[in-house]
Amino acid sequence: MSQPVPGQRPAAPEPLRLVQEFLNTRWERAGVEELDSPRGLLRWAAARGLVETDAPVGQSDLDLALALRDTLRELLAARRPVETGVLASLPLRCDIQAGRLVLVPDGAGITAALARILIAGVEAERDGRWERLKLCAAPDCRWAFYDPSRNRSATWCNMAVCGSRAKARSYYRRQRAASALPTPELRSPRRPRPPEPCRARAAPRHSWLRPAADPRRPRRGSRNRGPRRPG
Ligand SMILES: [Zn+2]
Repeated sequence: MSQPVPGQRPAAPEPLRLVQEFLNTRWERAGVEELDSPRGLLRWAAARGLVETDAPVGQSDLDLALALRDTLRELLAARRPVETGVLASLPLRCDIQAGRLVLVPDGAGITAALARILIAGVEAERDGRWERLKLCAAPDCRWAFYDPSRNRSATWCNMAVCGSRAKARSYYRRQRAASALPTPELRSPRRPRPPEPCRARAAPRHSWLRPAADPRRPRRGSRNRGPRRPG
């Protein structure tokens, strides 16, 4: 069964793609839940050749699958590596392949299929690809996507959808916060300016600002003595 894939991001390379598809059996935005029953788990695993179509799958197997999916999603959200506690819950054993110690599923059936998913996550952690697998930052999405960018800075599964919505929400919050602030007048009430002094009557401070004396008017304090009489 093909999953709905938002955006144009490339799928994770194998075998990490198996982990990506397993995580995306639940997608909040579209209300998708492929692991809604033991039969749903069998359908999903058989479609990927992990088990036979008539393999026995019970409720305990579904509970184990859901616990594994939740744990892997939490690890991705926290940007943490696959922990050993997760490994202990699944049938695994060590093997030597090409001179290298590797984990392999122990047994067969649906639990071995879940072990293969976990091993794919551990292998991705070894080669550095695990940290490129991310959950979309949109709370109503959380799609697991692969970030192939050089600086590994991708945040959204789809920039045109989840990224644009987040930017619109951020803009709306800023606008509301700005409108909740008091107006500038209320924040810093203006004091009435004191009246301007009457500069017309004020004496000029500097002599060169004084108005020129009228030569026709007698100077203050001087008497008009008239023409001087000869003695
Ligand atoms: Zn998204």
